[in-house]
Amino acid sequence: MSKLAIFGGTPAATLHPPKWPIHDETERVALLEVLESGQWWYGKKVQEFERAYADYQQARYGVTCVNGTAAIEVACIAAGIGAGAEVITTPYTFIATASAPICANAVPIFVDIEKDTVNIDPNKIEEAITPRTQAIIPVHFGGLPCDMDRINAIAKKHNLKVIEDAAHCWGTQWKGKGAGALGDMGTFSFQQTKNMTSAEGGIILTDNEELADLARSFTNCGRSKTGKWYEHYLVGSNLRLTEFQAAILLAQLRRSPEHVAIRQANSNILLEGLKDIEGIRTLPQDERVTQRSWHFFDFFFDEEKFDGVKRSQFLRAIEAEGIPCWPGYIWPLYRNPLFQRSMSGAKGCPMSCPYREADPPDYASLYLPNAERAIQTYCGIEHTVLLGTEAEMRSIVDTFRKIREHAAELRELAADV
Ligand SMILES: *Cc1c(COP(=O)(O)O)cnc(C)c1O
Repeated sequence: MSKLAIFGGTPAATLHPPKWPIHDETERVALLEVLESGQWWYGKKVQEFERAYADYQQARYGVTCVNGTAAIEVACIAAGIGAGAEVITTPYTFIATASAPICANAVPIFVDIEKDTVNIDPNKIEEAITPRTQAIIPVHFGGLPCDMDRINAIAKKHNLKVIEDAAHCWGTQWKGKGAGALGDMGTFSFQQTKNMTSAEGGIILTDNEELADLARSFTNCGRSKTGKWYEHYLVGSNLRLTEFQAAILLAQLRRSPEHVAIRQANSNILLEGLKDIEGIRTLPQDERVTQRSWHFFDFFFDEEKFDGVKRSQFLRAIEAEGIPCWPGYIWPLYRNPLFQRSMSGAKGCPMSCPYREADPPDYASLYLPNAERAIQTYCGIEHTVLLGTEAEMRSIVDTFRKIREHAAELRELAADV
């Protein structure tokens, strides 16, 4: 039995993840073309990308903007979420998902995630609905879609809008239709760590022309489709993407189907190879997910079943063996100072929001057990690793086995460094 790398042995994983972000001649030529054209600002490339990306996810309309955070904010405002309203969302996500409704003067209401995934639990949504609820923002975490049949049915029954945070879903499909095109609106991020990127960037998708026009107006200074250039209808902002970014995104989009296929094939090898390793629990596969982007290859680490090894010990060991692995968020979103009203000086809704002054949501005593547990157990192998070879995937499986065999030694390692 070979020695663990963390104790001086040879690393078992031989991975060569591509340097991220990936780019080649296509991006170089496209960027130079924009540079030399003199049209640097919103124009044909942005329009071409909006059309192409909407087609990719099978939505009727696409409206780009500066980043994924702004995309959710614009979607909330365009969807008509109003002052004092409640928006149901998940605590296991990036802050933007919950801060976006706040920008519309609404409050996020956190509903626990499922035990088996880190997606919002549809069974718990209805009990959180009140007369003030106006929307649901599910997050398809890691590119794994939430049960959109259930969520859309609940929304329809209670007359709520659905805004999908599809920030991990480039190419993901639910029953053959693109994520982000399943609810009323869907939003994506093209930030540098994402599976396709222009450093910063975002897009809002919808099948609803009126919502698309509103989103466009909010991202373009409140202008209208037909009005004069200095004619403004809404309190919007300037959130436009540039031609440089669109040129890069068009190149990245052309590469996406191949990348999705490679990540899927490799994830299947990992799912099969890791399924019998005691203490490692991969996420259940739903056959309604007909394509998945795999922003992370995610699994839960069960300390008890892994012979008492702590997740922090496991993560140190796996990194030393050569596998980059993300431990997930540091806490459920509601634990952030922003939501803990004891935090003095916090500004903005819901802390100092006149619409909810009389009955502010009580985040301080919120405890959502599955989200709290996921904070302790979640692990995600990064998407760049999933672009490797079949042999590399097999070496990942072998590495997990190696670490499992050395559980007793690992327990001796200092736990939290
Ligand atoms: C990255 C991300 C966002 C926001 O994207 P930015 O482009 O970084 O603003 C929103 N939601 C989730 C779940 C994300 O991972």
